[in-house]
Amino acid sequence: MTKPAYEIAVFPGDGIGPEVIDSALAVLNDAQSRYGVTLNYTTHDFSADLYRRTGKKITEADMDAIDDKSDAVLFGAMGLPDVRGPEGLELGAQVEMRAHYGLFASLRPVRLFDGVEGPLKDRNVDMLVIRETSEGMFAGLHDKHEPSDETASDRMTITRANCERLFDVAFSQARMRRKRGTPGRVTLLHKSNALRSNVLMERVFDEVAAKNSDVESTKFYIDVGSMYMVTDPKRYDVVVSENIFGDITSEIVAGIGGGLGIAPSADVSLTQGVFQPSHGSAPDIAGQGTANPIAMILSAAMMLEWLGDQHEDERCTLAGQGIQAAVEKVLAEGPRAKDLGGDAGTQDVTDGVIAALATVG
Ligand code: ATP
Repeated sequence: MTKPAYEIAVFPGDGIGPEVIDSALAVLNDAQSRYGVTLNYTTHDFSADLYRRTGKKITEADMDAIDDKSDAVLFGAMGLPDVRGPEGLELGAQVEMRAHYGLFASLRPVRLFDGVEGPLKDRNVDMLVIRETSEGMFAGLHDKHEPSDETASDRMTITRANCERLFDVAFSQARMRRKRGTPGRVTLLHKSNALRSNVLMERVFDEVAAKNSDVESTKFYIDVGSMYMVTDPKRYDVVVSENIFGDITSEIVAGIGGGLGIAPSADVSLTQGVFQPSHGSAPDIAGQGTANPIAMILSAAMMLEWLGDQHEDERCTLAGQGIQAAVEKVLAEGPRAKDLGGDAGTQDVTDGVIAALATVG
């Protein structure tokens, strides 16, 4: 249902997180007046810096406030090289977010824009990889099972209910993408010729595809399907797979894309979404004003499109598409950030996107 205003929880985080969040908010603010969308922001501290000071990554009050109110979450990046959690492990912000909000699908779009170098530059790449993140092989990591020196095994569990909601996300993403001219096709990458769990997954995929017959669907085995990602990426629009295959295909698209500075991402459930760049907190360039804000800005555009779909609000969809078109113009014509070979700073790129937004209609 369309809302007069959407509540957005903002987690700037660490390192360049707050810098790229500022850029994304500046672009969103401009888009709001242009497209008639109202976003209300509340900012919360979820950071390695807070953990260093208090032993907690976020306060309970902040977590409660978010749970009650937010329609979506914008997340910068979390983590500092000198801050580790218990047992010296990484703080694992993304894993924590997924668990807290019950997010089960990770979205990684890749689009080779004009003006951006990449290994498949002339192949017209424009696809979205969806990875299931709540079950599969990784979910068995916590099994009470001691491997011996001679034998070790892992367990892959896949459930019907989870497949159904995963494919619901895939088909609705295909419809969203179709609105901006992609073929609107969903492809399952699987290994049902070797894994029982994938036999069930394929069966559920066929059932969900039959209920969504307005959207084209295809299937490939993960091995040949991975090859097509680099040899013939035009086959793909939305690609969906279970956790471990999705982990690998997400990295393939990271390699195909033009670099971390322009790679957006999201983690979603059927009702909540956390939108964040694919990059980390990049402490090596924090505070220098040189971070490329485009990955964060494109993540914000994904958020608007997702809100548009969730709430059947065309204004949000158009605002998200408008920001993407503005980014496309900036990548083709400049200003160009340092990681893409230019000399523009974070603010220059942000100003460039806002100026382009006025021209893309
Ligand atoms: P994490 O472990 O938190 O995922 P990481 O240390 O593996 O992070 P990043 O923080 O993403 O990786 O940084 C990897 C490299 O990419 C660094 O050299 C960083 O400066 C660069 N980088 C990351 N994001 C950007 C950006 N938005 N603009 C420019 N350079 C970036």
